[in-house]
Amino acid sequence: MSTTVSGVPDDHLLEEFREEVATFIAQAITSGDACPSFGAILPPSLHMKAMHWQRFCFEHGRAGVHWPREYGGMGLTTDHNVVWHEECAAAEVAPYLNLQGLVLAGEAIMRSGTERQRETFLRPTLRNDILWCQLFSEPSAGSDLAGLQSSAVLDGDHFILNGQKVWSSNAQLAQFGILMARTDAELPKHKGITFFLLDMALAGVEVRPIKQMTGESEFCEVFFSDVIVPSDAVLGEVNGGWAVAMAVLQDERGGAGASGVISLRRRLEHMIQGAGEVSPLQVDGLIEILNRGKALQSLMERRGGDPHIAPIAKLMNSELSYDEAQLDASLHGAHSMLTSASIQALLYSPGMRIAGGSSEIQRNIIGERLLGLPREPRIATD
Ligand SMILES: Cc1cc2nc3c(=O)[nH]c(=O)nc-3n(C[C@H](O)[C@H](O)[C@H](O)COP(=O)(O)OP(=O)(O)OC[C@H]3O[C@@H](n4cnc5c(N)ncnc54)[C@H](O)[C@@H]3O)c2cc1C
Repeated sequence: MSTTVSGVPDDHLLEEFREEVATFIAQAITSGDACPSFGAILPPSLHMKAMHWQRFCFEHGRAGVHWPREYGGMGLTTDHNVVWHEECAAAEVAPYLNLQGLVLAGEAIMRSGTERQRETFLRPTLRNDILWCQLFSEPSAGSDLAGLQSSAVLDGDHFILNGQKVWSSNAQLAQFGILMARTDAELPKHKGITFFLLDMALAGVEVRPIKQMTGESEFCEVFFSDVIVPSDAVLGEVNGGWAVAMAVLQDERGGAGASGVISLRRRLEHMIQGAGEVSPLQVDGLIEILNRGKALQSLMERRGGDPHIAPIAKLMNSELSYDEAQLDASLHGAHSMLTSASIQALLYSPGMRIAGGSSEIQRNIIGERLLGLPREPRIATD
């Protein structure tokens, strides 16, 4: 597999790649090696299956499509990576073990890591020796992330970490976490934060899973009590963690791509088949969902490297999933909600309007930064 001299793959090469991965995925489904798709967050019930699938992809040279070969990737382009995601979505197979590792931590380490950090973390992440979690949100710092209070105080050649994180998806399974902590309380709040690659096995790290209304425990509370963190765990500059984290959030929001839309038509057809009589209002709802899905897909296809698309994609994606689940519930009625698979999506989808930055926050970003509308009043805390 190769690209043109300019490094941009031509359509022919991409189509060749598409055929190759479609065959690989189809064979993996037949052999039972593929993990079914699970949306944005790895549910503990699919942990072992997803671990196996990630290792299987790595061993067959199919992990990290656009990651450099020296770190175990395929060394291809981001366009090839999009094709991989599209083919996984079409086959309803997970594109990787988890977003936190294969997108958030991995891309951050490639962008901001030292050579030693790249060598230490990238290949083991692709091979699934390391499962990552994201330790950003705190009980009083979610939307207002810069208000975080967990502190890491420099003490000789290490930091002493204290505080609490919450809503940390997959933390109970993770070997490492990407962590934001305050390293200088005197500086303005955005400037005193450092980004760490935290070993979850360090003494003083305690993880407590939270039971969600889906019945699963995908996310956790994480407590830090005098954790001794070596200084080589810092990613980027000390007190320079805000910029590292903003790029991570961009990956998280922009990564909420159009993959879910690829099988949307099939899902809507299933919905109709399983429903009784469909009212004209519900037909309108189905058409609206399909059109919004197509709009999202077109947006993602045209986005190129435009960073402004991230909040729009995130907003469209999570609102679409939510409305799709609501429509499914209304088509199937109260009784079937007790037994049908629809109940899972109905209970899961509200969380997607909050995870990775709530829909209200995405609307604020779009209004203020993209459309240039007046900023909402802010309380001065610096
Ligand atoms: C399923 C799920 C998985 C998650 N996984 C992770 C994870 O792995 N790691 C991690 O660090 N975090 C994770 N989170 C946390 C998530 O990022 C936060 O919940 C989110 O940023 C919102 O923060 P909050 O919960 O503190 O709510 P708050 O910030 O307290 O917001 C409460 C409500 O007020 C609204 N609001 C707040 N500020 C404004 C404003 N300025 N204008 C308008 N409305 C506003 C919000 O939209 C929301 O409706 C996860 C959350 C969910 C639901």
